[in-house]
Amino acid sequence: MAPKFFVGGNWKCNGTTEEVKKIVTTLNEAEVPSEDIVEVVVSPPFVFLPLVKGLLRSDFQVAAQNCWVRRGGAFTGEISAEMLLNLSIPWVILGHSERRSLLAESNDFVADKVEHALSQGLKVIACIGETLEQRESGSTMSVVACQTKAIAEKIEHWENVVLAYEPVWAIGTGKVATPAQAQEVHSELRKWLRDNVGPEVAATTRIIYGGSVNGANCNELAAQPDVDGFLVGGASLKPEFVDIIKSATEKQR
Ligand code: PEP
Repeated sequence: MAPKFFVGGNWKCNGTTEEVKKIVTTLNEAEVPSEDIVEVVVSPPFVFLPLVKGLLRSDFQVAAQNCWVRRGGAFTGEISAEMLLNLSIPWVILGHSERRSLLAESNDFVADKVEHALSQGLKVIACIGETLEQRESGSTMSVVACQTKAIAEKIEHWENVVLAYEPVWAIGTGKVATPAQAQEVHSELRKWLRDNVGPEVAATTRIIYGGSVNGANCNELAAQPDVDGFLVGGASLKPEFVDIIKSATEKQR
C-alpha cells in the first residue's frame, strides 16, 4: 500500500499574530481530503506555535522549524525537543537548506539533531537537497545520498521520519523541478534506502518534494509514483495551500 500523502507548510520567518490567525482561519474553513488520504502539518515560527496549536483544526498538525541537538540547558537562544513535546508539538523540520547554508549546519550536525529529536519522541521532516552547482556538475545523487547516509548511520527506526527532497535551486526561486526531475531523484533515493537501510523502510518512508510547489504545479508533481507529498514554503502562506493539500487525490486515481 502506498504511504499516506504528506503535505507540510513551512511558514519560515513570516507572520504577525494577525496574519497567522488569518492563515489558520483559511485552513480551518477549507474542505480537504480526509485524514486517511492526507496528513497535513504546518510549521509556524516558534513564537506562534502555541497560538497555532490552540486554534488549528484537530485533523491538522503542527511542526517546529528546528530544535536543539541535545537536552536543554546553557544554550542561549535554542529550543529543545523536550520543550516542543511539553507543548504537545509532534513534528520538527530539521536540516532545511536555509539552515544548512546560512548557519553552516553540517550533515553530521543535522543527523545528530534527527537522532536526538526522534529519541525524545518527536517526528522529523528531514530535509536534503543539492545546490545548482552540484546539479550541474552531475553530483545530485551523491550529495543527497551523503546527506541521507549521515542520518541513516545514526538512527534505527524510520517510522517517524519523512524525507524532504528539496533542491536548493528550487527553494523560494519560482524554479520548480520538473515532475521528471523530482521523480528521478525520489526513485533513486528510494533505491538508496532499499539498498542501504532495507526494503521495508524504502517502501514505507514518505519522500516528499519541496521547492516552489504551488497550486498550479502540484497535481502533476503529485502524480509521480515516488512523490509522496510536499514541503511547501511561500505557497503555504496563501490560500492555494489548500489546493496543494487537495493534490493528494492524484494518488487515488
Ligand atoms: C521550503 O522552504 O521548504 C520551500 C520549499 O520553499 P518554497 O516552496 O517557497 O520554495
